[in-house]
Amino acid sequence: MRAGVLALQGAFREHIRALRALGAEAVEIRLPAELDEVDGLIIPGGESTAMRKLMADFGFIGPLREFAATGKPVFGTCAGLIVMAERLGGRRQELLNLIDIDVERNAYGRQVDSREADIHGEALGPEPFHAVFIRAPQILGAGPGVEPLSRYRGSVVLARQKNILAATFHPELTDDTRIHGLFLQLFDRKAR
Ligand code: GLN
Repeated sequence: MRAGVLALQGAFREHIRALRALGAEAVEIRLPAELDEVDGLIIPGGESTAMRKLMADFGFIGPLREFAATGKPVFGTCAGLIVMAERLGGRRQELLNLIDIDVERNAYGRQVDSREADIHGEALGPEPFHAVFIRAPQILGAGPGVEPLSRYRGSVVLARQKNILAATFHPELTDDTRIHGLFLQLFDRKAR
């Protein structure tokens, strides 16, 4: 079982570290052809406008859609969630379209760039998860195929749609590897 982390931009190194801490083999993905060598992929946080441009420039859009369509797990965090979303502010975004959610960028306002909060959810187990939000997006709405796994102040912050996992926060910035563990569980389940 081999996991890739899209390494065009953003917090990819921290995801590699979290995956390795769980004993998984983890590699950086910089070219579309490298997707053939992994069984699942993380799209990290960073800056979605830069990531969108780099994904297009490096020819990742079609290959990433195909990768997800085969049922291989894809986990997007923060900017990674934004580029996976079907809709941005109610309008369809033509990009990866991997998960049926509507997202608002930088939803918590400029004054509060970053916040930390304990979140809960059955999938996380009995202990709260300390979530780090950095210029975080907010999920405004989700289609019926999307399973909410955790909420913060009424909106979904962790969700799954079949083989696609999405978080509005940065689970790679804490030592708690439970959410990376959820991602690795999708490898076994074939997530269909
Ligand atoms: N605000 C960033 C964006 O819109 C996302 C921030 C992040 O990934 N931490 O792309």
